[in-house]
Amino acid sequence: MTTILVVNSGSSSVKYQLVDAASGARFASGLVERIGEPLGRIQHQAGEARSERELAVPDHAAGFAAMLDAFAQAGTPISELGVAAVGHRVVQGGSEFVEPTLITDEVAERILALGELAPLHNPAHYQAIVAARAAFPEVPHVAVFDTAFHQSIPAEAYTYAIDTTVAAEHGIRRYGFHGISHLVVSRRAAAFLGKPVSSLKQIVLHLGNGASACAIDGGISVDTSMGLTPLEGLVMGTRSGDLDPGLMLHLLRVGYSTDQLDQLLNKRSGLMGLAGSNDFRDLQRAAEEGDAASQLAFGVYVHAIRRYLGAYLVELGGADTIVFTAGVGENSPALRAAVCAELEWFGVRIDPARNTAVGGGPRRISADHSRIEVLVVPTDEEAEIARQTWQLVSA
Ligand code: ADP
Repeated sequence: MTTILVVNSGSSSVKYQLVDAASGARFASGLVERIGEPLGRIQHQAGEARSERELAVPDHAAGFAAMLDAFAQAGTPISELGVAAVGHRVVQGGSEFVEPTLITDEVAERILALGELAPLHNPAHYQAIVAARAAFPEVPHVAVFDTAFHQSIPAEAYTYAIDTTVAAEHGIRRYGFHGISHLVVSRRAAAFLGKPVSSLKQIVLHLGNGASACAIDGGISVDTSMGLTPLEGLVMGTRSGDLDPGLMLHLLRVGYSTDQLDQLLNKRSGLMGLAGSNDFRDLQRAAEEGDAASQLAFGVYVHAIRRYLGAYLVELGGADTIVFTAGVGENSPALRAAVCAELEWFGVRIDPARNTAVGGGPRRISADHSRIEVLVVPTDEEAEIARQTWQLVSA
């Protein structure tokens, strides 16, 4: 029995999947969203059957209850589906959680306390963890941390150049996020190439609604673009990415409140701020139709990625592979072509036909004579959480 319930709670949502840890096969999945708003929604899929329902979901505990209800309504209560363990994605593990960890009362409290560094996420994880442990008291619960993969980053790359006393007092350093995705994608890329991950220098570009780049040497994260929070780094759907911190001081001085700054930088920046939509498909369409703001947004987005690409090529001393993943990375040939344009001098040559070919699994988009292999590798964070959860509980 290797059926794992994977719970991935965001600030206002709970995503869940019932996964076979051995094969990665998905038995059921769903999404509870708009938690905390007057009317929430749950979408549930089990096999071919899909259902959708609107209901009030005041908090994450209610979200978890809605999920249990959706399983029962679909015909089989989850208690009859042989769940062997529950794997929880946790965004912020701080400096203390470097591995998947069995959740005890004490671990749950530590996850809550780390909410100081991830106020939107860790308290939501905590609520879902409490609800899940009450619903599944007999099975082990495991926390898999988005920050853990990046705990190998050396001090010169994770340290911000500020007063060390202030940094120590407030836990300020680069933590990095999307670690579960960077790990699984780098392993899958190595498997696709038929080489041990330990032999490869990789640059992984996770480009979804959130976006980050990661430099991986021999399977180990050595640098990443997100920092203390998931706001640093690349331009994202609604987040600004890198800024001059002086910009924030300036806005504070002209009267912005902390909450207004938070809204501006997390919700009304990035592609949304530049062109009015955080959906990359809309942006591409508008850019192709000549919309100047969308063309600029596309350019700014690409520019940020290429800056990190250049930095990581130097940090790693060259690369064997550049890997595109997540919604934009997996699905936008135009973006991939723009990121890799005019890098022939560095050994990157895209094959246009391979780049535009439609495909599902891992694939090569570089030309045969490209020195650096450029790949598209779909991410699957849930399968990886299930795998790590199973690995821990079956050890
Ligand atoms: P999340 O971070 O929410 O998991 P995803 O990895 O699903 O995000 O990525 C969402 C992004 O991927 C959106 O901007 C969406 O427009 C983009 N995307 C999805 N499909 C395509 C496509 N065919 N072409 C371009 N962009 C796409």
